[in-house]
Amino acid sequence: MTDRIVVRGGFVLSMSSGPNDGRLDVLIEGGRISAIDTCIPSDGATVINAEGCIVMPGLIDAHRHLWYTALRAETMDHTISDLAKGLWPGVGGNITPDDIYSATRAGIVDALNMGITTVMDYCHAVNTDEHAERAIDAHLGLPGRALFAYGPSIAQKMKEFSGETPVTAWSHAVEVQKRLGECTRMSLALAVQGPFASGRSGFEHDLGTARDMGVPITAHIASVAGGPTDGEIRSLDEWGLLGPDMQFIHCTGSSDHEFARLRECGVQVAVSPMAELFLGMGVPPLTRMRRAGLTPAISADAVIGSSGDLFEEARAGLMAARGAAISEVISRGSPVSNKDQLEMTTMDAVASITSRAAAAVFMSDSIGTLEVGKKADLIAVSHRGFEPATAEEAASLLVGTCAASDVNAVVVDGVVVKEHGRLVDIDTQSIRDELAKTRRKMKSYFS
Ligand SMILES: [Zn+2]
Repeated sequence: MTDRIVVRGGFVLSMSSGPNDGRLDVLIEGGRISAIDTCIPSDGATVINAEGCIVMPGLIDAHRHLWYTALRAETMDHTISDLAKGLWPGVGGNITPDDIYSATRAGIVDALNMGITTVMDYCHAVNTDEHAERAIDAHLGLPGRALFAYGPSIAQKMKEFSGETPVTAWSHAVEVQKRLGECTRMSLALAVQGPFASGRSGFEHDLGTARDMGVPITAHIASVAGGPTDGEIRSLDEWGLLGPDMQFIHCTGSSDHEFARLRECGVQVAVSPMAELFLGMGVPPLTRMRRAGLTPAISADAVIGSSGDLFEEARAGLMAARGAAISEVISRGSPVSNKDQLEMTTMDAVASITSRAAAAVFMSDSIGTLEVGKKADLIAVSHRGFEPATAEEAASLLVGTCAASDVNAVVVDGVVVKEHGRLVDIDTQSIRDELAKTRRKMKSYFS
């Protein structure tokens, strides 16, 4: 296979609002998109037949715990507080570096198969340095793109609930940064505790470390807070700590005023509709965030309490956003009579798992849209015979009917990872066998 690829005959949804939408070919050379045009000659290139497909940017999950993959659907009837009593101490206390390796590996392959080419892997089971090393081994051995969010141990995470103020030592994260060096597919963030868990000095320590390292931070914010009310974000604002090198996830308990401050300070936000609703964290605040001028990403988060399918997440997010918007109209005693009252559109929903998610993982310059010069991360999704005529129709089809199982082809960094509906050069049988073994083992930790 050459490093020159033509993706031919699909409907291109570029997410870049320009001339790159429509029935077009995409040329990939040297890992980057070099042309989007009609009738691009093959000239010895590898040709991916995308007839019957929507060709779009690879999906980006701005917040996902990959190691949870081995426990898929184990907590569909649990609240987040239940996790703190059962799964976290059981699994988090016993998980081994090899468990992390196997579960992360299975999670990456699962994500790639679903068309997710980039993941922010919020790794919060780093009980020892070796746990982090093995998670990174898993990433480096497979072809996905990742922002590895180096987190604390589960034991430390549980202190979020007790109000203790643990101090995180980041010396090994600095070593990891050196190990990743010039790696083009993997970079680093620090996954820090929220300010109510770490306190002002703890948060300043974590943020100061990240800024010294030149990496962004991410944190679970106001996800068990009740509300909405001023809380963690207001504290960070009063301490003068908000900035564009931060990404906050959930914020279900945050106030509208806090969202306005996040926009003013350039903080990135993401929500996880299925996990937030299934685990009782609150209603995804998409509508409130959007009214504040934020452009939230939509992520899968805890794939123990969600499917991991970003098309489903986008659909669930759109439903939650419209539910919030139309409830307001109806509560005033009037019918919903104007499409503007729905607020969020299907194009917004697709952006939340592509272009806006790229911003939420600090990679807008290189991925998230199909444009000449950007890295070649793209997917071809079967439209099941419902040929779109416009970009808006393509977005509506993706959110209205498509699922991860419709992903026919996946390209990451100019490398074909999936074609004809099957992963390429990945031993799926051994990954599946390994997953079954790891799943049995991890379930034994808390049963
Ligand atoms: Zn999370």
